[in-house]
Amino acid sequence: MASQACAAARALVASAHRITVLTGAGVSTDSGIPDFRGPDGLWARDADAGLGATLDAYLADPELRRLTWRARLESPVWTAKPNAAHKALVELERSGRLRTVVTQNIDGLHQKAGSDPHRVLELHGTLHATVCLGCGATGSMREALRRVAEGEAEPDCPRCRGVLKSATISFGQELDAEVLRRARLAALDCDVLLVAGTSLQVQPAAGLVPLAAKAGAQVIICNAEPTPCDSVAAVVLHESVSEVLPDLSAVPPSGGGSF
Ligand code: NAD
Repeated sequence: MASQACAAARALVASAHRITVLTGAGVSTDSGIPDFRGPDGLWARDADAGLGATLDAYLADPELRRLTWRARLESPVWTAKPNAAHKALVELERSGRLRTVVTQNIDGLHQKAGSDPHRVLELHGTLHATVCLGCGATGSMREALRRVAEGEAEPDCPRCRGVLKSATISFGQELDAEVLRRARLAALDCDVLLVAGTSLQVQPAAGLVPLAAKAGAQVIICNAEPTPCDSVAAVVLHESVSEVLPDLSAVPPSGGGSF
């Protein structure tokens, strides 16, 4: 990275003590998981969402649920490996400056790369777990998919026989209030908000950007395309996250001290 904008981003990261990162699907495209709104994107958030389903439609339509389970067996998420962008955030965390990763992703790749799971807030849930829409019990996605692979069209809840769904947020579903509260706190309590690989078109995630900016954080946005929040950012980089994030994470803290 050689531009003036890159130099400005490096300087902000060098002087930061409390960095919050907000990531989206663009961070995982180089791991082979398509994004939604990028040039090669498709709706990969969840197969039920992919078929245009709301939570109500999923509950009402057994055929939709069967298609969803079948499609989920083939999801690229199960074989995806973390890429340079995920790994760079692990390095930034190890340097002591990155406090929290707020992610809209459901693929678990930040944790797989080595990010401290306690510092990763999954705003839209996770594809690696199931939840029963009847009794609320959570379970293992791996176990549910094993049942599908063995021929069950739709695995039900082992406890109450209710309808099982991935533990992801579908259209029409509220976000987990505690996760959202912690994400807002992380946006309010950072000196740099580093935004990576998100079109910032999904609320309430996108609202974290103006929230952090109003609270005084310097916002860096790295995304291949312009976003609606570019105007509140101190630095905007229209570049690849798997090139930019390793570059930023390699910047030593200004003053030469280590944390
Ligand atoms: P989005 O698809 O709306 O936006 C992704 C953005 O990333 C696009 O603007 C695209 O141009 C950019 N991008 C793609 N690859 C990039 C790269 N290598 N470097 C820089 N920029 C890159 O995704 P979103 O903003 O996260 O919102 C969509 C919703 O879809 C979210 O709720 C998310 O949960 C879900 N989703 C998740 C996954 C996942 O878990 N990996 C995948 C697809 C969709």
